Amino acid sequence: MSKPSTDWILFNGKIFTVDLKDSIAEAILIKDGKIQKVGSSEGIRRHAPDTVQEFDLEGRTVTPGFIDCHNHTVAYGFSLLGQDHRRAREFPVEDVEKALLRAQEGLFKVGVTAQKEAGASDVMIQAYTNLHARGELKLRSFLLYGIHLGRTSVELAQEAVNKYSPGGDDTLTLGGVKCSFDASVSKRDPWLYEEWNKNYTEKDELNFGGLIVPEPQRHGEVVKILHRAGFQVCTHCHGDQAIDKYVDEIEAAIIDTPRTDCRHSVVHCTLPTDYALRKLAKLGDNVVVEASAAYLYFLGDLFAGNFGPSRSRRLIPFRTWFERGIMTGNGADYDACDVNPMYSLYAACTRRPRIGKYGSQPFGKDECLTIQQALRLCTINSAYCMFWEDQIGSIEPGKYADLVVWSGDLYDLPSEELLNQKVEMTVVNGEIVYSTDT
Ligand SMILES: [Zn+2]
Repeated sequence: MSKPSTDWILFNGKIFTVDLKDSIAEAILIKDGKIQKVGSSEGIRRHAPDTVQEFDLEGRTVTPGFIDCHNHTVAYGFSLLGQDHRRAREFPVEDVEKALLRAQEGLFKVGVTAQKEAGASDVMIQAYTNLHARGELKLRSFLLYGIHLGRTSVELAQEAVNKYSPGGDDTLTLGGVKCSFDASVSKRDPWLYEEWNKNYTEKDELNFGGLIVPEPQRHGEVVKILHRAGFQVCTHCHGDQAIDKYVDEIEAAIIDTPRTDCRHSVVHCTLPTDYALRKLAKLGDNVVVEASAAYLYFLGDLFAGNFGPSRSRRLIPFRTWFERGIMTGNGADYDACDVNPMYSLYAACTRRPRIGKYGSQPFGKDECLTIQQALRLCTINSAYCMFWEDQIGSIEPGKYADLVVWSGDLYDLPSEELLNQKVEMTVVNGEIVYSTDT
């Protein structure tokens, strides 16, 4: 493969546009980093200017760049550098910049072209800003300032809105604040209505979990402060009782200061009740769910063991979210899961855990997505969770040319084969940022 410059045609391909009809096209005309036309090979080539460079896809599949709406990208970069990623918040800005550049490279290699950094420190925000100012940040990044990890409080929320206001451009935006409401499924401490299980069928006697915020009764105030300041509020919630309380808080904040299109996020939203699902549907464009399909694979055995047989079938209910019009995006949540989005596609389509300690299908099949839906989840829907659905997330005229060329046909493979698919080329702003043919 040669390396064309910014104005070029990709033709003779199978292009999954992820437009409203999930149309499949053959060719794309890219001009000045943006998609100018999408259509048949013949039509696009016939009307193209003579100077344009052509690139023969030889039948390969092209998708929009994958978008990860919940990741810890700086931490991922540190682990690629062989450093302790759990200490990502402690490193100086120069080290964070190096980690970010390494993470950017790693994500391009697996076809991820945009991501949400779910909980950035001041130093991380500085590192992103520095790289962007130097033109080195190509991975579109939507940052959430972090007041999470058991620290979510009215005081920190107030400090956040005094220090930052939402804003940015199509490459780097500080758009929201990450809070955490309950903790981790592996420790069985998220807040449930019924006690936790262990080893699938046993009860973890009298353990209902709880919230990890210092003053749970004031969390609603946190949501109001951030909402009033125009931030997207993204709160980590796993347990059914925690999610119910949080969706009520979102509704109260909107009544307090009416705004539309806020897209406040229930992050993870692992075990929503029917009450929460009805409320999420009712809140419409004021809420989104940011889930992690790959939990069902990487943490699937642990989740099944701790939630037990009946709750497991209701975990991370993608199909219900799609059917009820609850906008849902997806993130790898490194280091809980591998950043390769193929794991998310596989898990969203199959709901199969990695080992299958409690059977191959403890989460049932009712909530499985089709591959077309799973691709939407990881592209256009995740773009929506970052307010970028008009810029990226599908292959349509006017959007940035953020694309991935794949080794196989994602729509037409047995699910297991998804895990073997390789990225052959990743394009951002019409520029090749990764290629197997270097
Ligand atoms: Zn996370």
